[in-house]
Amino acid sequence: LSDDGAPLAVLGHDVQVPLVSGEKVGYAALDYAASAPALQRVWDDVAAYAPYYGSVHRGAGYLSQLSTDLFEQSRRTVADFLDLREGDQAVFTRSTTDSLNLLAGVVPAGTRVFAFETEHHASLLPWRRHGLTVGYLRAPRSCAEAVAALDAALAAHPEGPRLLCVTGASNVTGELWPVAELTEVAHRHGARVVLDAAQLAPHHRVSVRELDVDWIAFSGHKLYAPFGAGVLAGRGDWLDAAEPYLAGGGASRTVAREADGSVVVEWHRGPARHEAGSPNVIGAYAIASACRALTEAGFDALEAREQRLVERLKAGLAEIPEVRVLSLFGADSARVGVLSFVVRGWNSSHFAAALSAEYGIGVRDGLFCAHPLVRTLLGGEDAAPSECGAPEPSLPGERSLNAIRVSFGAGTPDEHLDRFLAAV
Ligand code: PMP
Repeated sequence: LSDDGAPLAVLGHDVQVPLVSGEKVGYAALDYAASAPALQRVWDDVAAYAPYYGSVHRGAGYLSQLSTDLFEQSRRTVADFLDLREGDQAVFTRSTTDSLNLLAGVVPAGTRVFAFETEHHASLLPWRRHGLTVGYLRAPRSCAEAVAALDAALAAHPEGPRLLCVTGASNVTGELWPVAELTEVAHRHGARVVLDAAQLAPHHRVSVRELDVDWIAFSGHKLYAPFGAGVLAGRGDWLDAAEPYLAGGGASRTVAREADGSVVVEWHRGPARHEAGSPNVIGAYAIASACRALTEAGFDALEAREQRLVERLKAGLAEIPEVRVLSLFGADSARVGVLSFVVRGWNSSHFAAALSAEYGIGVRDGLFCAHPLVRTLLGGEDAAPSECGAPEPSLPGERSLNAIRVSFGAGTPDEHLDRFLAAV
């Protein structure tokens, strides 16, 4: 960040979008919560590395050795970024969805998993598998209610391994969840916690050590590193005790044929156990580059700038009587640069399409892969089911069945929000 609080340089803002008027305008990317644009710095780092990449953990050649070094260095950079504890592991995955599915596969059989029904589907659904019981907790209307609900649920199920999966910041409302308090309650009951930091990590400094969560998951493409990689990090015991997420080369230490013709496998311990196949070294390198760039920019400065934009957005929308901003914890609750709303008399899909076609503004409409939450916020348990992200059929004037989401971050210039507010 420069002293005047300028945004970080990102790709894509120079793209000229044709409008229905025939004019062209620079693209206003206000859908960071889906995928953030790449930081210019990440792009430059990847471009500088591109001529040198080779196979990781495999080749004897110079470029393979270099790539192996960079891959493992990237892991250490991520560990520093997340402030992992001694003994924690950082596993490279494809995404948050992949990370949580990996974890669901290593959770011991018989575990009871708790998740608030307000979670993104990636946090809500991976636990519905053989051997696990899922307890969905009703949407709380305050942080204190969330903490009390977890306390009661764990008190009602005091036996056996238990796990809470919770988001750090909602992908619908942007609201911050009381992660440290929930973790304190979970640990008091002997339960573990995995933090879905897909929407938190791009906006806030996250310390696994301070939050005390057992695992954390996030996606590179929401952290300004859009190269198909994510991270699952945290305690090694369940990870090392379970079958590998993918069976194959890289995860296996030795594979031997026994005298009776059977094949015996000894799996690695540590991150390699769950990273079978040729790793996505560009993706890992890009995540590490983004971690470095955000750390150097400083989260204090990034958060201060983003909060200024959040306040401006809230104030601007508050002046438009037809707009209703969605919130679980109340209008004044702390949030990152993610906000959903509906506009009286408008179908949200038409509204979002108009923002694009008439103003060159990219937002998202739909149920945001958090169907129960959006239905709760819109006040209609009866809303029609839809595919993740597919527009809901409704006519202007009907009660909204879906919403519009505007989201932004470290690369967003003030002009994008000004244009958005003027357009709305
Ligand atoms: N959790 C949250 C809170 C999210 O916002 C998202 C993405 N919208 C995910 C999980 C899933 O991330 P990905 O699509 O990168 O797997």
